[in-house]
Amino acid sequence: MPIYEYACAACGHLFERIMKVGEKEPACPACGAKETKKIVVPFRTNAWSTFLDGMEKRVSPHKFK
Ligand SMILES: [Zn+2]
Repeated sequence: MPIYEYACAACGHLFERIMKVGEKEPACPACGAKETKKIVVPFRTNAWSTFLDGMEKRVSPHKFK
């Protein structure tokens, strides 16, 4: 299943979603805004993953206990 990166247009939060066929663009998990933008990531670099993890830890620290 493809994993897509999204950026929230309202708060700038970056998040990933595994999208099923026919699923609509997800709302922002941080602020609930529906204006999210798909980011095309041709390949994952370590730097990009580290950056995303850092963002995720800031917003969802409970996931990293
Ligand atoms: Zn947001």
